[in-house]
Amino acid sequence: MPGNGRLAAVGANTDTGRVREQNEDAFLAMPPLFAVADGVGGHAAGEVASQLAVRHLAESLPTLSTGGVDGLRDALIGAHQAIRARAEREPAASGMGTTCAILLLEGAKAHIAHVGDSRVYRLRSGVLEQLTQDHTLVGEMVTQGLLDADDPRADGSRSVLTRALGAGPSIEVDMATVELLAKDRFLLCSDGLVGMVPDNAIAATLLGVSNPQEAADSLIAAANAAGGEDNITVVVVDPMLPAGSGGSRARPRGRGVRRLLLSLLLTLLFVAIVALALGWSEAGHLAPVPSARQSQQP
Ligand code: CA
Repeated sequence: MPGNGRLAAVGANTDTGRVREQNEDAFLAMPPLFAVADGVGGHAAGEVASQLAVRHLAESLPTLSTGGVDGLRDALIGAHQAIRARAEREPAASGMGTTCAILLLEGAKAHIAHVGDSRVYRLRSGVLEQLTQDHTLVGEMVTQGLLDADDPRADGSRSVLTRALGAGPSIEVDMATVELLAKDRFLLCSDGLVGMVPDNAIAATLLGVSNPQEAADSLIAAANAAGGEDNITVVVVDPMLPAGSGGSRARPRGRGVRRLLLSLLLTLLFVAIVALALGWSEAGHLAPVPSARQSQQP
């Protein structure tokens, strides 16, 4: 998907991978709103759930843009209820659910919300940081310090979700807000990427490939090259900070314009003073001043 020039440059793609027959992932790249959803459920119901979630978010965008973090939480709860309502109407879709990881840009801030094990990362000054904690059995144990993230004993249960949109009567959403700095880059992805490609290789691609669409495509290619065991979805977001905000890329240019205007003003002032002085001198206005002073002396 081509980049949006004003709020962010974005690259996004999804791929079935090399093992699964269907792609149950979905994504949304509608600046200022970005999302990745990874559906679960039999008989292709996972695909229905993930599509329902991103469609509900897209429809909520007008209220999200002004509602900030509360609007985002309401939109996710709405998506949860929409999935449950659909599952009640269609017995074949019973038990379906979806993860959802969201990034919403608002001025010089980014709101992050997630449910499940789709992740949001931030690349800042060359360092890749995972901003979300997986809602999986393993992820919860890692968060509580009961298990190391790379413990091989956990490999069989890494994808067991403890939270998903559509699962259970109510839903708890994790929310966070971060300040944006110039050149921050965000990655939203499904577990089909992180299960196949280690974080250091993800970081190397995000650092080395400046075009966000090419970066997204490279990450999907890397996951497929490593086996492509699951559906893979990647959204790469390069926010464009508003002019005058902290750390904005536009700031040096703004300063330059101000400096140019100031020096132009000073030059004009200087020219005006010189012209005025010459004019007065030619008209003889300067001559009487010393004599006037002298005449006041006793
Ligand atoms: Ca998955």
